[in-house]
Amino acid sequence: MKTKSPATILKPPSQPAPAGPVKFGPITFVPGRKGGRYPYCHSLVVEQGQVAWVVDPAADKDYFAELARTRRVTGVFLSHFHEDHQKYNHFFPEACFYGPLLEAEAFTSMAAIFRLMGITDPQFRDYWRDTLLKDFHFRPPARFAPYLPGQLFQLGEVILEILPAPGHTPGHSCFHFPRQQLLFLADVDLTPFGPWYGDAASDLEAFAATLNDLQPFKARTYVTAHEQGIFSEEEFQAGLAYFRQVIVRRDEQILAALTAPQSLAQLVERRLIYGKVKEPRFVYDHIEGQMLSKHLERLLRQALISRTPAGFRRRS
Ligand SMILES: [Zn+2]
Repeated sequence: MKTKSPATILKPPSQPAPAGPVKFGPITFVPGRKGGRYPYCHSLVVEQGQVAWVVDPAADKDYFAELARTRRVTGVFLSHFHEDHQKYNHFFPEACFYGPLLEAEAFTSMAAIFRLMGITDPQFRDYWRDTLLKDFHFRPPARFAPYLPGQLFQLGEVILEILPAPGHTPGHSCFHFPRQQLLFLADVDLTPFGPWYGDAASDLEAFAATLNDLQPFKARTYVTAHEQGIFSEEEFQAGLAYFRQVIVRRDEQILAALTAPQSLAQLVERRLIYGKVKEPRFVYDHIEGQMLSKHLERLLRQALISRTPAGFRRRS
């Protein structure tokens, strides 16, 4: 049996992110440094007079230092627990931090972060603890409140609605601003890399279901946390289609590699997901292994591969 490649590989929308802040009424899109690439992300600021809220504060140190100096930031909304969405939390010590209930512990405890990510190796834990403290200023917020799917928050004329979008992480959520017809997609980021599900707690099937759930969602503006950042409806639809296709393509690449049996470690070496070696190597080994595992589990369930003593093998 030969696996067919999709006839055409769709191109993702890939305009560069705006160079400066973009206003949508009382909501400001703040572009992340490095084009919104890790360790930064695009952020949103909601303003009502002297009071402000921030969504995923990891865009730009100078912007947030100025915001903290000139506004009273009372709320910080976090789409999920990842460090590249919380880099500048520490500018807002007075704010209440809101994060998904399903990941609540990971906003206050390193042990919970390790558990969700699936980091068991003591040296990896030490490295990650140092990274979170040094590069991301990790510290448990003085005030944290978990949010739930469908919950509504209001600041002046702005309503923020919690829209669960699991897969990337268990509690990963989008934020809908119905009055401005703006949907913040967070790490359903529609980047050329494709969907990321590299934690132990990430879920490929849930991510695929989230793509389906988001498809009929109507908004005027779609905002992601990385790279292009601002999408029209047409680009949003193209981005979702591309993400679906990347998942299929990864399945196909893995199947093609399994004509001879391969262990997970051997597959990790081939960098089928990332396409290249990135540093630090043990971190990317971990992520590559996690993402491959989700595909392998799915291909096993679909009876397209089997597990043999020599490794995973494609069924003929
Ligand atoms: Zn993330």
